[in-house]
Amino acid sequence: MSLEIVQVYQSLLGIYGDQGNTKVLQKRAEWRGIDTKVTWVEPGQPLPETGDIFLLGGGEDGAQTAAVKALKADGGLHRAVDRGAVVFAVCAGYQILGHSFGVGDADEPREGLGLLDVTTTRGPRRAVGEVLHRWIGRFGDDAWISGFENHGGYTHLGDDAQPFAHVEVGVGNANDGTEGALQGTVVGMYPHGPVLPRNPALADWLLELALGHELDPLYLPAHDALRRARLAAVRA
Ligand code: GLN
Repeated sequence: MSLEIVQVYQSLLGIYGDQGNTKVLQKRAEWRGIDTKVTWVEPGQPLPETGDIFLLGGGEDGAQTAAVKALKADGGLHRAVDRGAVVFAVCAGYQILGHSFGVGDADEPREGLGLLDVTTTRGPRRAVGEVLHRWIGRFGDDAWISGFENHGGYTHLGDDAQPFAHVEVGVGNANDGTEGALQGTVVGMYPHGPVLPRNPALADWLLELALGHELDPLYLPAHDALRRARLAAVRA
């Protein structure tokens, strides 16, 4: 069993440290005896046709526009989604998966990749701070998602995208009580942190989505302590 994880355009979508998500997926797969390959792709290089999970992180408005241009020219992300690969995108990465997003103070519209039925326009105030969300369809302690949001764009979901979570603390998609979007195997959400070290159940869920089967539970006390500390901080 092996898994190829693809870190997409770290030079453009890497300013929030979201590449930590890639490391978490890699380690949690390896700890279950699954071989992993991590492929880092920069604009101008082809996305691998063999990737199982593609990760996109946060970035600035100009970088988002450049990322869309390069991803459209390559076409590999669309082909990956067509063959059922998982895409996990945070913040700027989430916004560019949609139909359109606004950039700059003037909220100039830019065309997105159209892989999620969402649109993003500039909101009334920048959303900055610790967040707490409740994962829709999950129960128990694993359903709590903690992270850090920092975005000026507000994202509105169309009929084909399901909200990923309910907002307990923070702005989320558009101060409308929802956070993130899920459409088939494409997942977008706002929390940085990075989000996966703080929320291991989310990491395992992404791995299971990519592998097509359940994984044995993995209990690591240090990770549990980090998770509890972050949840306590945002609830305080
Ligand atoms: N530039 C986008 C916004 O402000 C995304 C920011 C981010 O990735 N944190 O909405």
